[in-house]
Amino acid sequence: MRVRKVGTALVGVALTASLAACGGGSDGPLVDRAKAGEKIVVGTKWDQPGLGLKKGDAPEGFDVDVAKYLLKELAGGKDVEIEWKESASSNREAFLANGTVDIIVATYSITEARKGKVTFGGPYIIAHQDTIVRAGDTAITKATDLKGKRICQAAGSNSYKRITDPPPDGKLDLDVQLVGASNYSECFAKLNGSNLDAVTTDDLILAGFAAQGGNLKILGDPFTDEKYGVGLKKGDTKTCEAINAAVAKMYQDGTMKQLFDKWFGKTQGLTAPAATPPAEGCS
Ligand code: GLU
Repeated sequence: MRVRKVGTALVGVALTASLAACGGGSDGPLVDRAKAGEKIVVGTKWDQPGLGLKKGDAPEGFDVDVAKYLLKELAGGKDVEIEWKESASSNREAFLANGTVDIIVATYSITEARKGKVTFGGPYIIAHQDTIVRAGDTAITKATDLKGKRICQAAGSNSYKRITDPPPDGKLDLDVQLVGASNYSECFAKLNGSNLDAVTTDDLILAGFAAQGGNLKILGDPFTDEKYGVGLKKGDTKTCEAINAAVAKMYQDGTMKQLFDKWFGKTQGLTAPAATPPAEGCS
């Protein structure tokens, strides 16, 4: 009996310690925790220029600024203490489910497959998948020219499926050669090194990398709507509703235009969205 009690106490200590080590994912709707002044763990990309790029201690970019705005709104206008956590395409669903992060703002398209695992606020913007090739490439001028070509498969990302699969989460249903990479910065290294023929993903991602230089050209043949959602733990509909209200406010008060111009204003062919995208619905 005595031994059992000690055992239970030890399990309790171990559990508390492991939850504390996770950093995010405490109980209760995130919006309530933000209001109560708790520290919030936010997942963004750390390797995508213009969107989420680690600079010193914290990332910077459009998604980072959107996350800061939305959290402040959730907290009723108070500044929120944020811990930033790199969330690659391949670990977003797991990080939300296991509490490594509380919220993800990371070029995260709302897809049918992901809706089963994640509650999505938003979308806060709609990107469009386009394609980038080496500047001298004359064989690929439109997305359907990718048939048979070597394209990048960034782990956990949906973009390659838009090429290889039919709807709803795919689009063109083409046969291609997939070249694996752990993220989009690795895709660009491979494209610049001629280890693949094209990188096809969201126009906002392409714009950020293209602005860094290199001898590349964007086709200007967008062929999808990528609804960027705010990833929340599955079932946190209260926070999702609050995010949707905050997104609407972000458009109404001019913040969306200001942030879009700050990060993408110099990119040809991209213009700030005029109206709030229709909310996807919280489920
Ligand atoms: N927006 C697409 C997706 O969520 C591509 C970018 C990414 O993987 O972050 O799959």
